[in-house]
Amino acid sequence: MPFQIAVLPGDGIGPEVTEQAVRVLETVGRVYGHTFIFREGIVGGVAIDRYGTPLPASVLEMCRGVHGVLFGAVGGPKWDDLRAAVHPEEAIFGLRKELRLYANLRPIHVYPELAASSPVKDVAGVDILFVRELTGGLYYGKPKRRWETRRGRRAVDTLLYTEREIERVLHTAFELAYHRHRRLILVDKFNALESSRLWREVALELTSEYPEVHLKCLLVDAFAMQLLQRPREFDVVVTENLFGDILTDEAAVLTSSLGMVPSASLGPRRRGRVRRGRISAFGLYEPIHGSAPDIAGQDKANPLGAILSTALLLRHSCGLEREAGAVEQAVALALERGYRTSDIATDDERTVSTTEMGHQVMVSLEEIGERHAWPRSWRISR
Ligand code: NAD
Repeated sequence: MPFQIAVLPGDGIGPEVTEQAVRVLETVGRVYGHTFIFREGIVGGVAIDRYGTPLPASVLEMCRGVHGVLFGAVGGPKWDDLRAAVHPEEAIFGLRKELRLYANLRPIHVYPELAASSPVKDVAGVDILFVRELTGGLYYGKPKRRWETRRGRRAVDTLLYTEREIERVLHTAFELAYHRHRRLILVDKFNALESSRLWREVALELTSEYPEVHLKCLLVDAFAMQLLQRPREFDVVVTENLFGDILTDEAAVLTSSLGMVPSASLGPRRRGRVRRGRISAFGLYEPIHGSAPDIAGQDKANPLGAILSTALLLRHSCGLEREAGAVEQAVALALERGYRTSDIATDDERTVSTTEMGHQVMVSLEEIGERHAWPRSWRISR
């Protein structure tokens, strides 16, 4: 059965890194005998310029009919006017809300070859999975507005969560933790926020359903420090929307660059519980970085976050675990062979372009695919 994939490159470096991700999926198709049908859509600033809206209705409709969405990045100085009626970032908020993508998975994995280029010391072996709630909290709660009073301007955002919203993302986090090292951290602001008290209450109630998973609750300020002091101690971390947004950018520093981190934004499950760490759901897949206007159009951006996002797509929306693992191994192999874009290189390392880095991952993927094609008995005897 062919896999239908919507491709939304967006603005800035979005199209550059997404092109490499699509080429990697085409290589997966060729090597492992799958068909991917790509349907491209325009979103973000370029969509505002052409259609007057960052998320045209036809693009949203297209996304409803596919297995998964590959997203680049949106935004840039051209559309930064605070008084503008529409903003590029509304494309991503709209997709998350309309497609009910409530669970955002952000794996923070430090490759041994990159440990030295991280500004934080002792990061080798860090492997954290963040689960960020994505469709609730301050970004969506109402009222959300600003107004003028005789005493000056005022603005309000609302931090609202329902029990159901908290529970469904906590289930995802508990289940993923069960299939990893069974340690789950809930990050909240229990001492100051009523919504955090509800998060903690619901999480503690769920522990009876997951007796094998050890739950620990940490205040966001303490966690922000510990993430840099002893990142190796963390396994799975679950938190609400705003905390997750900020903490995962902080965590990306451990990997050496924002350009290294992929993400999966998953909607309601197609089938029951998580099996062997794999969720079966519709999803949107994107690197966590933005459109990086400072390096756009220079073939300099790191495409690995976008490429690793295809591994998450293969795993969670296509059910292709072996192929997902092959993409991850191919990235590791390209790094082992010394290929670096400028954001992850130390001073004495030679750097390659976006296109060359993508090419090297594909070369590695073909090699790994050949190994998979050998009969198992022959593979073992060698
Ligand atoms: P950014 O992530 O675009 O860039 C931050 C820094 O990281 C820059 O110095 C950039 O060059 C570097 N960087 C980011 N990705 C890189 C990559 N793949 N390879 C090498 N270097 C990389 O964040 P920003 O500068 O705060 O935002 C720029 C624009 O992106 C803004 O308009 C913002 O609103 C938007 N944005 C969009 C998304 C999204 O589409 N999901 C997310 C964050 C920011």
